[in-house]
Amino acid sequence: MFKKVLIANRGEIALRVIRACRELGIQTVAVYSEADRESLHVRFADDDVCIGPAPARESYLNIPRIIAAAEIAGADAIHPGYGFLAENAEFAEICVASNINFIGPTAQQIRVMGDKAAARNAMQAVKVPIIPGSPGPVEDSEEALKFAREIGFPVIIKAAAGGGGKGMRVSTDPDDFTRSFQLARSEALSAFGSGEVYIEKYLDRPRHIEFQIMGDRHGNIIHLGERDCSVQRRHQKLIEEAPSVALTQDLREKMGDAAVKGAKSIDYVGAGTIEMLLNADKSFYFMEMNTRIQVEHPVTEMLTGVDIVKEQIRVAAGARLSIKPPIERRGHVIECRVNAEDPARNFQPSPGRIDVFHPPGGPGVRLDTHVYAGYTVPPFYDSLLAKLICQGRDRQEALRRMQVALESFIIEGVTTTIPFLARVMANKHFQEGAVDTKFLERESELMREPLNAA
Ligand code: ADP
Repeated sequence: MFKKVLIANRGEIALRVIRACRELGIQTVAVYSEADRESLHVRFADDDVCIGPAPARESYLNIPRIIAAAEIAGADAIHPGYGFLAENAEFAEICVASNINFIGPTAQQIRVMGDKAAARNAMQAVKVPIIPGSPGPVEDSEEALKFAREIGFPVIIKAAAGGGGKGMRVSTDPDDFTRSFQLARSEALSAFGSGEVYIEKYLDRPRHIEFQIMGDRHGNIIHLGERDCSVQRRHQKLIEEAPSVALTQDLREKMGDAAVKGAKSIDYVGAGTIEMLLNADKSFYFMEMNTRIQVEHPVTEMLTGVDIVKEQIRVAAGARLSIKPPIERRGHVIECRVNAEDPARNFQPSPGRIDVFHPPGGPGVRLDTHVYAGYTVPPFYDSLLAKLICQGRDRQEALRRMQVALESFIIEGVTTTIPFLARVMANKHFQEGAVDTKFLERESELMREPLNAA
């Protein structure tokens, strides 16, 4: 087993990884930027190294500084968390070249799945259904328009290197297509350093269903079931739950088999997620694979009792998976992402000092957070404050528990999305489970405080 793990991340996920390491008896090294000196991950790690100024480019994204920190602190492995360098194949390669274990898949696996067009081809080769689209990247707008007409409008133009809900543009008809195509290309180039884009059919009201994958170096690859992440804003997830109310056991098995088949095709090692879109007619398609731990992994942890991060560390050290199907599932789990953002102002970030912090608790309630009273949310990074995860014996109990937990979750000093999340929980369609990726777009009044709320 590893002796000392450096966590190349910050915030709640850095704390999450530190906890897993401590349980495994592994020493930890925190890295932090000048803006994160007062962070809990720095306090809870055995060792810490400042890696530079606040901007991520000069700290959390700076590979030489992170490798140097690992060498100075004597770490034999690096856990990248999510975001930052987690899906950077070059980083994984440099770790290995520096004799430091990368807790994640191989650089080659990251590379194949990180290129969405290449990932589609890999899936198609093993007959996992993919969304109808161009067979690969498209160079010029004329060729692209030809594909778009073939597939039928609306279409979505996606950056091959895209991620985080960025680098996508929907085109509804041939007249706006060329403009959208050019915009998508230049956005992709400036955001991801590659102007490569491809075309996909834009599905009307799909659900986002993803499968948690775990693989080891001994050829075992399994899935831990699905998460339904259909409640999104601008293609970014806000609420996740499991099991999905849209799946029958039969469909779960079909989709799960496809996900495992996809992961097996590249001999995937570690924790990963196969994301799919599910149509109302129950047809489903591979969308992409994330080759890292995901924000919403606690949903599956609570439902199955499996500690995914510990499992991730164990398999990176060469151990076999400690779990085998059938995976037990208990009740229903819902997760809300609590952000320092103002829904009434287009979810504009609201950094600043947290004066009052009172977390919810009780049976079936898990809170993953790095904030505390007196903590200042810096303006430099994403605005996730906490993940609130509630479990119940059934969906109704989980939902009610989430409502009560949100009501007793007090954060003062910064504007948070807690009242917004409470409104979603009280929404009739959400309660009925009648959601898809366009749900929030239709229910736009959820963004505003009701007038009689005062
Ligand atoms: P990212 O890597 O940026 O997260 P994804 O490819 O995972 O991007 O897509 C994110 C979200 O965008 C999906 O959950 C879905 O809501 C929407 N989306 C992506 N592709 C399509 C499509 N072909 N049709 C409809 N919605 C889509």
